[in-house]
Amino acid sequence: MKIDVSEFARPCPCGHEHRISVRDILIEPGAIRRLPALLLEAGYAQPVILCDENTFEAAGRAVRELLPESGLVVLSPENLHANERGVAMAEEGLAGLQNAPDVLLAVGSGTVHDITRFLAHRKALPFVSVPTAASVDGFVSTVAAMTWNGCKKTFPAVAPVLVVADSDIFSRAPHRLNASGFSDLLGKYTALADWKIAHAVTGEYLCERVCELEYDALRIVCGRLDEIREGGREACEQLMYALLLSGLAMQMVGNSRPASGAEHHMSHLWEMEVINGRVDYYHGEKVSVGLVLASGIYHRAAEEIRRGAFTLRDRQDVEMQLLESSFTDKAMLAEILDENEPNPLAGVTAEAVRAAIPAILRAVEEIPAPQELSDMLARAGAVKSLADIGLPDAMQAPAARLSPYVRARLTFMRLLKLFDFERDIFEG
Ligand SMILES: [Zn+2]
Ligand SMILES: [Zn+2]
Repeated sequence: MKIDVSEFARPCPCGHEHRISVRDILIEPGAIRRLPALLLEAGYAQPVILCDENTFEAAGRAVRELLPESGLVVLSPENLHANERGVAMAEEGLAGLQNAPDVLLAVGSGTVHDITRFLAHRKALPFVSVPTAASVDGFVSTVAAMTWNGCKKTFPAVAPVLVVADSDIFSRAPHRLNASGFSDLLGKYTALADWKIAHAVTGEYLCERVCELEYDALRIVCGRLDEIREGGREACEQLMYALLLSGLAMQMVGNSRPASGAEHHMSHLWEMEVINGRVDYYHGEKVSVGLVLASGIYHRAAEEIRRGAFTLRDRQDVEMQLLESSFTDKAMLAEILDENEPNPLAGVTAEAVRAAIPAILRAVEEIPAPQELSDMLARAGAVKSLADIGLPDAMQAPAARLSPYVRARLTFMRLLKLFDFERDIFEG
C-alpha cells in the first residue's frame, strides 16, 4: 500500500497552504527490500543507519545487508530517551564514521525517530523513516518531542523524505508497542475536542479537513479492536496506516495541534517526574491513561455546564504558587514559566467562553465516555488506568490542575480554570 501524499497538499477551504514534505510512504510486506533502489533514485549515496540494539535485531541488520556500504550507529537501548544524552550518543556515533552521511535512516520506534529527526535538522540532512513498530503517530511529524533539562519540549525538526514501513517487521513487534500506538491514536478524541474548543473560544486557526483526517484514522482502528489485540499483520498494517495519517495531519498544519491535547499534557507531566516518581511506560500508554481521565473530567464539566449552575471568572493568571511548589527544580520552573508567557488564558473573557458554550458541548459530545474508552482500550489489549502505569488514583486531580501548564496550548482542561466547579470535577 502506498499513500498518495499529493492528496494532502491540495488547496484547502481553510485557506492554509498545507505543505507536505514527505515524498513517499510505503506500507507493505518486504518494503525494506526496496530501500536500495529508492535511495539510488533519490540520489543518496552515503546512508547511515541509526538504531538501537533491539531495533538492530528487528530490522537494522536486514537493512544493513541490503545496504552493505552504509554507515551504522547502534545505540544502547539501556535508558535510551529522546534527550540531551540520546542526541549526544548518536552524534558521537556519527562523528566516528569514516564517511559523512548524505542521508540518515531512522530504524526504530519513536525514540530513535525523535533523535534522528532532531539530528537531521541540526546537520541539515534528509532522513528516511523505517519504523519497527506501529507505536506512535509521530513518524512523519515535523517536530521532535524531546526531554530537555528534564522538561518535555517540542523542537523544530525535519520530517522524513521517505517512509518505508515493512509490515513483516512491525507486525512482529512486541504487542505492547503496537498497542501503545493504538493508545496514542485514540488520544485524538480529546486532542480534537481541545482544538475545536480553543477555536470556538479564541478563534484559533482550525482546519476541518485535518480534523476529518484524524477522525478517518480513528475510524480505521476503532473498527478492528480485536484484530489489533490479536496482532495480525493486516490489522497492524491498518494501524500503521492510521498512525501515518495522523502524522500527515500534523504535517499539514506544521505542529502537533491536531494530535495532542490535554491527554498528551498529562503524559508529558508524568514524564517530567515532578509530582510522581519514574513512570517507565511507553508514550501511548501514558497518553491513553490521560485520555480516559480527561474524558471523565470533560464529560463531568459538560454535565455541570448543562445544569447551568456555574459562574465564570473573567481572568485566571498563571497559578504561581502551584507552579513554584510543584516545579522545585529552578531550571524546570524557568522552562515552564517561559512556556506560559504569554498565558494562553490571557484575553479569554467569561463572555467569550459563554458565547462558545454550545460549541464546547458539541466538541465534548464527540469524545466517547470514559467507560467506553476503557472498553475499547481493553479490547485492543492496551493500557487504560492510572494503576496500569503504576500511579495512584489520587494522581487524577493534581495532574488535571498542573498538566495544562506543560504546554503553551489552550485546552478545555486549561479553560476549566475559569469555571467555579473546576475542583469538584477533578476529583470525580
Ligand atoms: Zn485546511
Ligand atoms: Zn502522541
